[in-house]
Amino acid sequence: MKGTFIHGPRDIRFEDRPDPKIEKPTDAIIKLSAGCICGSDLWPYRGINKITQPTPMGHEYCGIVVETGNEVKNVKKGQFVIGSFFASDNTCPHCKNGYQTSCQHREYMNQAQAPYLRVPLADGTLVPTAEPPSPELVPSMLALSDVMGTGWFAAEAANVKPGATVAVVGDGAVGLLGVLSAKLMGAARIIAMSRHETRQKLAKEFGATDIVTERGDDGITRIKELTKGIGVDSVLECVGTQESMMQAIHSTRPGGSVGFVGVSHGVSIDGDQFFYSHVHLHGGPAPVRRFLPGLIGRVMRKEINPGKVFDLTLPIENVAEGYKAMDERRAIKTLLKV
Ligand SMILES: [Zn+2]
Ligand SMILES: [Zn+2]
Repeated sequence: MKGTFIHGPRDIRFEDRPDPKIEKPTDAIIKLSAGCICGSDLWPYRGINKITQPTPMGHEYCGIVVETGNEVKNVKKGQFVIGSFFASDNTCPHCKNGYQTSCQHREYMNQAQAPYLRVPLADGTLVPTAEPPSPELVPSMLALSDVMGTGWFAAEAANVKPGATVAVVGDGAVGLLGVLSAKLMGAARIIAMSRHETRQKLAKEFGATDIVTERGDDGITRIKELTKGIGVDSVLECVGTQESMMQAIHSTRPGGSVGFVGVSHGVSIDGDQFFYSHVHLHGGPAPVRRFLPGLIGRVMRKEINPGKVFDLTLPIENVAEGYKAMDERRAIKTLLKV
């Protein structure tokens, strides 16, 4: 089969590679129902993460199980399944505490922009649906694999409570689904920080009540103006840069919380400033596995439609164009037909 590789900055190729096969008795092979490109894939694409050799890409997936190893018990051939970007056993202490992305046996998934995928630790990693979803639900199921689960974790880590005032830094797919998550958790006011019209529109559809276009110190000033100088209860930081993290911390009221899920790139926090901010910080790679059963139910019941973040669909052969469109911010998120 063919799969997606990155060879260097802005050099994405869809090229031959061996079909995945069962390597350990705990593996499963799935045939993807669709693939996609993640905002975090743009870090290596833009040359911010170094690439030393051709590296396979893709960590978001859902599809049909076509083969299982001898020790796999919880998933069966023919089932539709979803997993997260880290395979996890779901039995070790960290998994049991709900932090499957810190699993003692975790394995990073990075070959999912391809028609078939090997999933390690299949019993712990994959969540099957009661029945295969109808085709129009597949984009929303795929969104659960990372961006919806990550947005949900951002809101949870930011301690969003019913009636809360929330700000979301970042208008990528995760930020937009963070808006949706905050809404589902009962936030009364949700301020989306975005300067892109199509993203503002989707943010409002997902539940944003206010839009702030300013960034950095101006963004903080605007949030303070909107909250009588107090700051918001919860901020979802969905970018991962120094500017976005400072914007998040300084927009939060004393005693409030920041949930940060943007993959950290060069962020450093000044101890004095943090000390006097009185702000709770929690975040990291979202333990999406914990949220999958609940979110799958919401998609199946058509309560949520997180698949709306896919605003470009391409055949997987054209994956390079999908990266380009996201890099140039012409697309929020690209769905790849396999
Ligand atoms: Zn992702
Ligand atoms: Zn574990």
